Amino acid sequence: MSHDVSALQAELPELDWTTDGERLAVLSRDFSWFSPILKRALAGAVADIAVRPRDEAELTHLAAACARHAVPLTLRGAATGNYGQCTPVQGGVLVDMGGLNRLLWLRDGAARAQAGIRLGELERRLREQGHELRTMPSTFRLATLGGLFAGGFGGIGSITWGPIAAPGNVAGARVLSVEPQPQAVELRGPDALALHHNWGTTGIVLELELALAPAQDWHEVVIAFAGFDAALDFAQALAADPALPKRNVALLAQPLPAYIQRWEASFPAAHDAVVAVVASAALPALQALAARHGGRVTHQADSVDAQRRNHSVLELCWNHSTLHAMKTDPGLTYLQCSFSAGSHLQQVRAVRARFGDALLLHLEFIRSSEGALICTALPLLRYVDEAHLQGVVDGIRGLGVRVNNPHHRHVEDGRFGGTLPPEAAAAKRRFDPLALLNPGKLRVWPLPG
Ligand SMILES: Cc1cc2nc3c(=O)[nH]c(=O)nc-3n(C[C@H](O)[C@H](O)[C@H](O)COP(=O)(O)OP(=O)(O)OC[C@H]3O[C@@H](n4cnc5c(N)ncnc54)[C@H](O)[C@@H]3O)c2cc1C
Repeated sequence: MSHDVSALQAELPELDWTTDGERLAVLSRDFSWFSPILKRALAGAVADIAVRPRDEAELTHLAAACARHAVPLTLRGAATGNYGQCTPVQGGVLVDMGGLNRLLWLRDGAARAQAGIRLGELERRLREQGHELRTMPSTFRLATLGGLFAGGFGGIGSITWGPIAAPGNVAGARVLSVEPQPQAVELRGPDALALHHNWGTTGIVLELELALAPAQDWHEVVIAFAGFDAALDFAQALAADPALPKRNVALLAQPLPAYIQRWEASFPAAHDAVVAVVASAALPALQALAARHGGRVTHQADSVDAQRRNHSVLELCWNHSTLHAMKTDPGLTYLQCSFSAGSHLQQVRAVRARFGDALLLHLEFIRSSEGALICTALPLLRYVDEAHLQGVVDGIRGLGVRVNNPHHRHVEDGRFGGTLPPEAAAAKRRFDPLALLNPGKLRVWPLPG
């Protein structure tokens, strides 16, 4: 669907517009190619024009003009999302938020920044002052703060602080409405979370205020095990140990490690691997724990140094395993699962027993929003066809495990389990009354009745 955007350009000639077709096609893509289903569904979806506002005033003028001319607008952070979240399926204006990238303040263990700041840059600035992000995706080097809030979940750090939505992690958000006279509104605490993970359909996030963690010296470690059960027991023990400060605990069950290139030296053949990030001071305790479970440390590096050398386990964990494995074997795809508190280990073992090597198992241990220790999984599998994939999803669900199917293209069908929550619907009415934000991503809008 294409829109006449000439009136916008004529009205706002001073904005930084992009009209080149090839550039628009690139900007309109994210990592939805992880899914053959989404890749097909989103083929050809491209913005009519892109723009990079330099500040809040330019963005406000743009929102007003879009409202007056009924032109859709889709917000783009760094396009590292993996469901086509920032792909403008109904065309219109693609809004690059990267110009709004200022750290506004840092005090009393909290910070406020504009939504377009890259998380890697934010983390670097925070660490200079003795703080760090509580949670960030493995794409932190590129991904933006607004993109994490509107499209992501959490990731690195969630083993201690839970997901970004855990109460207390996000203190507030400044949100702009799309109307002929846009309103900028401050939302505090749970009110701000009404806009979380709505894929930019319920308001433009201008700024976010976050609670921070004290900065730590982190070490990255890989521990190899000659059996899945030992690796799982170790990962659970490490994740649960309150005396071992940690930033990530992941388990890559064999044969998955063999799909990850450039890490062969750390992943001995036919071994399961636990990939962990722990406080440097906790290394001796970690090594003792590993030895008790029969594990062997095969890699160890200071995390800042590892990132500088571009060889960090932070870019093996979370959805990075999908990226690495699909580079090795493009015929693979992935799922996202969440195991139940209290029975997560039994459920993991049941999945392993039921699917064996047909699922390349990658577990991530986290604290839930309620603080319970659980694990999630990003298993890889060979893509056959939609029916086969659905069969696997049904099989996993049959074991009582939640599957957030990542092969969908509507907000309601992932984390929300089929229906838009009432607070998200209220935010949509308040901040996007003309339904111009990222249209086509809400399966049902306007809501019936
Ligand atoms: C290899 C890989 C690993 C990943 N690992 C993780 C992980 O560990 N944890 C995790 O949570 N996710 C992960 N992701 C998904 C994604 O990288 C993150 O969610 C990331 O935070 C998205 O940020 P972004 O700036 O790229 O957002 P984009 O992809 O640009 O946007 C995401 C959504 O947010 C909306 N949006 C962007 N900015 C705003 C704004 N200012 N206001 C309102 N809406 C806005 C967009 O319209 C879009 O719907 C991974 C993806 C890949 C490909």
